[in-house]
Amino acid sequence: MNYQVAQQVIFLNALNFFMIFMLNIVYFTKPRINKIEHKIFAAILIETMVVGITGLVFGIFSTFSQSIGFLSILFGKIYTISIVLWMIFFAYYTYIISSKKEKLRDYKKVFLMFIFCSLTFILVPMNLEIIDHQIIVSGSLIYLCYGMCALLLLFQMFMVLVNLKNIKNKKYIPIIGMIILTILFVTIQFFFTDFNHLNSLLGVLICYIMYFTIENPDVKMIEQLELAKTQAEVANKAKTEFLSNMSHEIRTPLNAIVGFSLALETEDIPESAKEEVKDIIMASNGLLEIVNGILDISKIEANKLEIINSNYCFKNVFDDLVSLTKARMGESNLDFKYSLDPTIPSVLYGDHSRVKQIILNILTNAVKYTKEGFVDFKVSSVVQGDVCRLIISVEDSGIGIKNENIDKLFQNFERLGVEKAITIEGTGLGLAITKRLVELMNGSIVVQSIYGKGSKFTVAIDQKIIANEPVNIEPSKKEEEIQIIDLSNRKILVVDDNNVNLKVIKRLLVDYNANIDTVTNGQDCIDKINNGEKYDLIFMDIMMPKMDGVTTLNKLKKIENFAIDTIALTADAIDGQKEKYLQDGFNDYLAKPIEKKELNRVIIKFLSQK
Ligand code: ADP
Repeated sequence: MNYQVAQQVIFLNALNFFMIFMLNIVYFTKPRINKIEHKIFAAILIETMVVGITGLVFGIFSTFSQSIGFLSILFGKIYTISIVLWMIFFAYYTYIISSKKEKLRDYKKVFLMFIFCSLTFILVPMNLEIIDHQIIVSGSLIYLCYGMCALLLLFQMFMVLVNLKNIKNKKYIPIIGMIILTILFVTIQFFFTDFNHLNSLLGVLICYIMYFTIENPDVKMIEQLELAKTQAEVANKAKTEFLSNMSHEIRTPLNAIVGFSLALETEDIPESAKEEVKDIIMASNGLLEIVNGILDISKIEANKLEIINSNYCFKNVFDDLVSLTKARMGESNLDFKYSLDPTIPSVLYGDHSRVKQIILNILTNAVKYTKEGFVDFKVSSVVQGDVCRLIISVEDSGIGIKNENIDKLFQNFERLGVEKAITIEGTGLGLAITKRLVELMNGSIVVQSIYGKGSKFTVAIDQKIIANEPVNIEPSKKEEEIQIIDLSNRKILVVDDNNVNLKVIKRLLVDYNANIDTVTNGQDCIDKINNGEKYDLIFMDIMMPKMDGVTTLNKLKKIENFAIDTIALTADAIDGQKEKYLQDGFNDYLAKPIEKKELNRVIIKFLSQK
């Protein structure tokens, strides 16, 4: 090698060092993940820099020294040791990526190997001589170095090939590529000693390949984020399932409590007992509201809450709301004012049960948080083309909300001014649900409040207009009296695996004088129909072990001439379920706990005219 070529080698080494130095800066200044393979990659980066700098210094000695001195020997040794250590790190990295075993993940052993190799290499002799501006290295150390490199490369190849299936995300492709590249470089250097400055170039190349393929911290972060996202989604799904199961579990005993209390209410019992029964019903309804609220929130969080639109009459909704609020106010001497804009189109298209839920939430709060004074409920409308904007306002003279708390109003489980409302029951879910429902309907909700004086909630929701004149819609009903019809010549079959629930429905139907048959599973129901038993109506529980209600109905429908109206009976009282059960072929749906009014509606609908 002549003097000029030697200088070019120095330049190449300097360039290598610069490149690896830059890569170190980029890598170490980025946020990284603290897993073992990333730590090894960090060690490889540093080690490559050591190879780079020692290679550069060694190159300078080779070019400019006239004789071999202590420093040449020192750097020669450090250079050779660094190359072997680099190979150890690289092999360890391959091992970690490909092996499933945790044993060698204990990197203390690797560190010991590191020390052992360093000592061996220091003790093993090395010959240096300068020929034509190049330090020629020979002796046992060089053979040991090549031998170790060859062994480590073989080990890596073996690990990758044996564990090909364990290696995630096709990481074996760059690894095999890098091993082949290393074999190529080592072989060239073994046979052509002129090229031994290629070591640091190889190290830099491999670091760059790793950085842009398997070790890119950005890709790693994205991988981690995706993993965290999937884990969060799984956890959220589990939570939603848990909540809906809990709701089912809570509703089932509630069905018995409410059902028997409702039945007792009409019995000839002492007045004081009647009062207590009323309290039981009220407490159960409160519990039911909480269960529904939690279910709604979990559905909102899982993006599963749907708006189910249909034609409806707003006046009916309004009247219902007024009577529900009056019932809630009970004996209180609040002045409850209400007014409905008479120009509101008669038939609108929207989700009336959710519209009702929104208004009921703010009305209930107004009544809850106002001890004296008034609650003013107003609904007006603005019509534009075929859209009617409902403007609903509820104003009260209650405890009011502090300015700094207004922003927190719509957060889950947030209860404000608890010092004043300490005796008022609530979960802090109502307004969070209300806000999300309003948003789902592309509406808006605004709160104005003066602490200590009162609050005003205003909601605006757009609904499509179906008919503007009074058309053939049900007239608005006042609190409807339940009319018991005589069913003594009718036969009803109730299918439910839970004996208490069977008792409840039988008890609720007592006044109708119907003949009631009960079975505790789907197969018995099918057998009864197959045996030619005649019924006028079937109440079918949905969640039953062995055969659920939907499967039972499907099997019933396959029976020739089967034409009995079948009502789904379920504690999965999630809104929108009704439509699902109708699609499944049921004729109607009753939620548990069964409401007397609802039960009566179904009885009248299916049994009054036949
Ligand atoms: P809950 O009433 O079950 O506690 P909400 O989400 O309906 O939950 O209401 C959240 C909080 O907002 C309530 O705890 C109460 O502090 C406050 N709030 C809601 N409506 C009113 C109102 N009309 N007047 C005063 N405070 C109210």
